[in-house]
Amino acid sequence: MDKQKVDPYKPNPNLPWCPKCEGHTEYEYGGDTAPVDVCTICGWKVFDVKKKNYTTTLNYITATLVSISTLLVIYAIMANDWIPLIVIPGSIPILYMVYYFKIYQPTQIREKFLAWAKERNYREN
Ligand SMILES: [Zn+2]
Repeated sequence: MDKQKVDPYKPNPNLPWCPKCEGHTEYEYGGDTAPVDVCTICGWKVFDVKKKNYTTTLNYITATLVSISTLLVIYAIMANDWIPLIVIPGSIPILYMVYYFKIYQPTQIREKFLAWAKERNYREN
């Protein structure tokens, strides 16, 4: 019951934030297939404000893609078999989805959180 004492509309980057309710609302475990916490008011996935290594994620994805592509090209040259290269354009939609859900969307929500927090005189350290 300690959570009740915390003002959900006071910006706190250590608390998950609901982008729909625009507040640090109560949340519960709501993952069917993946571990996610959802807002008990609206059911949206709450946003973990602390998690912000999106650039690292992007670099990791790029490095992985470049490595795989390089290996495929080396294999294609060695084996004179260019069919595996169709994997490269085929992976673009997957990469786009990873980018969208892991980087673009969290960045948008984070900006929304910061704007919301700024209205409440919160300054990011
Ligand atoms: Zn909510």
